Amino acid sequence: MSHNAYITDERIEGDDEGPLAGRTVAVKDNISTDGVRTTCGSAMLDDYVPPYDATVVQRLKSAGATITGKTNMDEFGMGTTTETSAFGPTENPAAPGHVPGGSSGGSAAAVAAGEADFALGTDTGGSVRCPAAFCGVVGIKPTYGLVSRYGLIAYANSLEQIGPIAPSVEEAAELLEVIAGPDEHDATTRDPAAEGADTDYAAAADGDVAGMEIGIPTELVEGADEQVVETFWDAIDDLEAQGASYHEVDLPSVEHAVEAYYVIAMSEASSNLARFDGVRYGPSPDYEGNWNEEFAGVREEGFGEEVKRRILLGTYALSAGYHDKYYKKAQDARAWVKQDFDEALSEADVLASPTMPVPPMEMGESLDDPLTMYLADANTTPVNLANLPAISVPAGETDDGLPVGMQLVGPAFGETEMIRAGSALA
Ligand code: GLN
Repeated sequence: MSHNAYITDERIEGDDEGPLAGRTVAVKDNISTDGVRTTCGSAMLDDYVPPYDATVVQRLKSAGATITGKTNMDEFGMGTTTETSAFGPTENPAAPGHVPGGSSGGSAAAVAAGEADFALGTDTGGSVRCPAAFCGVVGIKPTYGLVSRYGLIAYANSLEQIGPIAPSVEEAAELLEVIAGPDEHDATTRDPAAEGADTDYAAAADGDVAGMEIGIPTELVEGADEQVVETFWDAIDDLEAQGASYHEVDLPSVEHAVEAYYVIAMSEASSNLARFDGVRYGPSPDYEGNWNEEFAGVREEGFGEEVKRRILLGTYALSAGYHDKYYKKAQDARAWVKQDFDEALSEADVLASPTMPVPPMEMGESLDDPLTMYLADANTTPVNLANLPAISVPAGETDDGLPVGMQLVGPAFGETEMIRAGSALA
């Protein structure tokens, strides 16, 4: 376990039988595990032990899986490199000296290093797809509402989904089948099968892209690192050689997606993280009579820099007098992004772009520059704003051997097409 992929190394045995019997799954440490410490990568939850399992964990157990442990992550999911964790950074097993991506970096690293057969991550603005791309493995961000968030410690609940990470598209799809589907504990879940959608995800990994139409949003390719762009086009050529065709599409709204995403994510975070006050959650203060000071002290000590920055900005964006200027504008941009994607997908089966505009950064390189780090989410955040499904599959490597991922986006609850396209590549 040399890459610091795990925060807590504790095995949780599942049932004896089931589709995942004998197989192992690493679980991101913001997903609740009954009786096993769940920290969200934060000193605030250093000794927090949930009294119940998240729905996805229950489903893993009844599918027969063994959970290998709880994986490292950016604190509360806030980051793109797994360096904001209070438990130290994770190293990328596929690119030593480089970050594994984030925020589910521990999960992707565990799979890339062969320490687990599969992993679960969470994707609020790219946190499954980014580490999958950086570590040379496959990651799926499901349609909003396909996978239950019950027992997921919320960062920005209108954006996030739990998603699978695996060495191959077929295995990622197999894990998606186990965790997907309606849950009475999460009223935002839907039953796509009942609405006529194809939910045989693993069977869709048949590599048959003959006749498939791929839309390529120019805005998500332009401006990316040169070698990333080259690797991306080689992979598109590969799909074309297998019978797919492509055309370029415009998504003018995505220019505003990163801004809108961060306003919405930080606003939701400022509200979701209010519960970490030393009374409801977090270490109890030695109460000496001044409630405000005690409360502030717990938060001052328990949260890292990035989390504090986001709580402050989110609180500001929601405050009286500024709400219309920031939050409402971001919601308008979100609606526009959704509409752009719907239009583009009306003339394509899937949309393709590089998952990340840059190859994995060197460790320590981006920590002092939050804005550059936020901009690295340019291609992934629009998909969360639009509530759509997306997959990241390995597309190749740069000249220096750094992994490059291709992102394929499908229509809502149309996971099968992007799985099919991805399986033709990997
Ligand atoms: N990098 C993005 C952020 O920091 C995405 C995080 C995520 O998907 N959890 O918000």
